[in-house]
Amino acid sequence: MTRRSCHFQPDQSSSNDVQPSHTSGNALIQAPIPPNEPERLRELADYQIIDTLPEQFYDDIVRLAAYICQTPIALVNLIDHNRQWSKAQLGFAAGDVDRNLAMCAFAINHPDEVMVIPDATSDPRFATNPFVAGDPHIRFYAGAPLVTPSGLALGTVCVIDRQPRQLSAEQLEMLRALSRQVIVQFELRRNILRLEQRVLQQDREYQALYAHLQQLELQLIETRQQSLTDPLTGLHNRRGFDQRLREEFGRARRYQTPLALLLIDVDRFKQFNDTFGHLAGDETLRVVAKLLNEGCRTYDVLARYGGEEFAVILPATSHGGSQVLAERLRRIVQQAAWPYQPVTISIGGAILTETMADVCDLIEEADRALYAAKRNGRNCCVFAS
Ligand code: GH3
Ligand code: MG
Ligand code: MG
Repeated sequence: MTRRSCHFQPDQSSSNDVQPSHTSGNALIQAPIPPNEPERLRELADYQIIDTLPEQFYDDIVRLAAYICQTPIALVNLIDHNRQWSKAQLGFAAGDVDRNLAMCAFAINHPDEVMVIPDATSDPRFATNPFVAGDPHIRFYAGAPLVTPSGLALGTVCVIDRQPRQLSAEQLEMLRALSRQVIVQFELRRNILRLEQRVLQQDREYQALYAHLQQLELQLIETRQQSLTDPLTGLHNRRGFDQRLREEFGRARRYQTPLALLLIDVDRFKQFNDTFGHLAGDETLRVVAKLLNEGCRTYDVLARYGGEEFAVILPATSHGGSQVLAERLRRIVQQAAWPYQPVTISIGGAILTETMADVCDLIEEADRALYAAKRNGRNCCVFAS
């Protein structure tokens, strides 16, 4: 039997009640620590029952235990690392008890037996125990260990009387049955807790997945946007232009609305580059893009068609309207304050007609008009007839 140091000073005033048979003074005999103590404590912690609020089920258990065994006191006790804690108590509010003073700490060492102490005053292990010597003056004790499916005893369902006595074989069996019921309830509780944990864990995984998907979606949108955008000017690039032109072509056909296209080419830009350098050329293209953008209306679609060429899709715009807009764009560029030398553009325009089979026909028409504008001496607008 293991001896551990006693932290408790038994109540001297009531020690007259007790005549320990073999202990000298008030020394207490402490319960041995079960050989499987670490597993036992882990299991106890796993049930997450310690320090929970009272519950009807366990209150019913102690009422039944007291009734069956005809005792004034009954408890559901659990033996924690260094204390005994009561889940349910009838007839005596034990509260937290130092493990060194807990009779149930002895009972858990024999999981297969109900520990019966007919008269604690004549048992050397308990004669000097303050709960025997003092309030509630325990004489009789019977504790049925709470044994988990893996064979670990966590505590007891115990009954206590203030006078020496015995239990019948039937009462002992009933006490055992009640302890089994408590364990069934513990298991149920643990399974519910595990299920809750699993559900929450699953939701955490779903949420992580959701966040990841959202990020991917944003990346996809950004990548798609990048793939349709010209990095120098920030306008639609050729792919973006093709896509938008197809859309507007379809819409114009569906709703029988006019559609115009302008192709714009910077005049003598090779010469510009040769004279002022490629970087000045880039800067000029950025400014031309900005000026054209300012000249366009809300629903016009401006794109960098390639090199020093731009295109403007003009939805719901008639022949006359597109001519006005083309002229406005040409003028804006011509009249801007240019740091190196005046910059001008030539514009070729075309209107969607019923004979055009697809967008290529419209582009070809506009391109022919642009070629004509170049031949006309540049810095002018020409429309396909
Ligand atoms: P035209 O009036 O007949 O259009 O003459 P142009 O010199 O503008 O025409 P050409 O097709 O001979 O030359 C186009 C020039 O545009 C050649 C090329 O160096 C320049 N260019 C194309 N893309 C860029 C660019 O991104 N940056 C710069 N700086 N120059 C470019
Ligand atoms: Mg060109
Ligand atoms: Mg050019």
